[in-house]
Amino acid sequence: MRFFKEDLTMPPDQELLFLQQTQKRTNKYFWAALIFVGIFQIYNIAFALYYTDFQLHTHSSRVYTVLYLFMLAACLICATLGLLWRHIKKQPSRLLTLYAVFAFVLLLWSATLSLYDQRTSDNLSIYISTSIYIASLIYIRPRSAVSIFLLAQGMLFIGFIWMELTGFKDTYGVFINSFGFTIVSLFISLYRYSSLRHDFKNHLEIEEKNRMILEQSQKLSHIANHDPLTGLWNRNYLENWKENFFQANSADSAANVAVFIIDIDHFKLYNDAFGHVAGDECLKRVAHTLQELDGLLFRFGGEEFLCLLPGATASAADQLALQFCHSIEKQAIPAASPAARLTVSVGYTIGNMNNELAFRQLLREADQALYIAKDSGRNRTVKYAAQSVSS
Ligand code: GH3
Ligand code: MG
Ligand code: MG
Repeated sequence: MRFFKEDLTMPPDQELLFLQQTQKRTNKYFWAALIFVGIFQIYNIAFALYYTDFQLHTHSSRVYTVLYLFMLAACLICATLGLLWRHIKKQPSRLLTLYAVFAFVLLLWSATLSLYDQRTSDNLSIYISTSIYIASLIYIRPRSAVSIFLLAQGMLFIGFIWMELTGFKDTYGVFINSFGFTIVSLFISLYRYSSLRHDFKNHLEIEEKNRMILEQSQKLSHIANHDPLTGLWNRNYLENWKENFFQANSADSAANVAVFIIDIDHFKLYNDAFGHVAGDECLKRVAHTLQELDGLLFRFGGEEFLCLLPGATASAADQLALQFCHSIEKQAIPAASPAARLTVSVGYTIGNMNNELAFRQLLREADQALYIAKDSGRNRTVKYAAQSVSS
């Protein structure tokens, strides 16, 4: 009973999604039932005609043939409308209404057949199997389900009363049986409706939770790998990146990487002159400018950046180092004395980088080159091996 107590209302977008999913599920059974019932009616009509030598001379054979024809026509109409809705309008709610209409026609037909059969062989089995089939396989909203099942039961009820009154038969037993099965079918139908919606809501909640977890883990991974001020990769990411790079290049002795250390000139003076808040803004601007250029850029220390350029040639490394200096100069960021514009110095080197030791060696070389760049006047690039200076 838990199902009936829960609030199963949904916002319109979820309702549409639910209808689409339900339509898909009901679709399978609907078409199978339609084809089965249609073929069965063709067989029945053919059999009735053959059996009566194409004369339909008894009253029964005529009534049955009309019932079979009626059901066959209903199947054909439903099939045509079903195809039209599916391929032209694609409206799940309309299609589900069609399924409910088909279920209703099927139930009325089976009730009629059962009523008519009372005269010959006490047969409620068609009504019973049809009502259980509809209740458990075809999706029907509670209000429609109540009206459909009660209407069929009402028809049976009136039919049985009529039989009782005309003294045709004692129908008390079959009435009780049909009523019992209508209630069972109705219960199954309502239960199925609420359990489908319940499952769907649960599924959406789980999906939403998974989405939030994924979002959180993406946020955490972003925080873990980025510098919060500049948004550049941080040292943590450098560790991961290195490990991956070593693994991918361990067998490749020619894994050349250009390593650049870029340091802002006289940044302490900048802070002293304009304050730390302005200093932070300046760091961001420098970071974004350097980021526009080639290479993998990390915030390495306070106002120091590390750039790695795998597979670099010597001339590409020389060019990139110069670009670092020129691009910052071009920004024309006002600086405190001695220079009028903010500048950077770059120390760089190039070499194999297959393991941690090799990487540390390259870092040492780039750092030494940076030291020379600072020592020899700043706003310039120095390559380690050649110790050449250019600006
Ligand atoms: P040099 O040209 O020799 O590199 O001189 P410098 O002043 O840049 O060198 P130093 O290493 O002495 O000073 C670096 C300064 O960078 C000191 C520190 O206040 C500043 N700094 C480091 N991190 C940050 C930061 O996140 N924000 C701000 N505003 N300043 C920072
Ligand atoms: Mg500095
Ligand atoms: Mg520094």
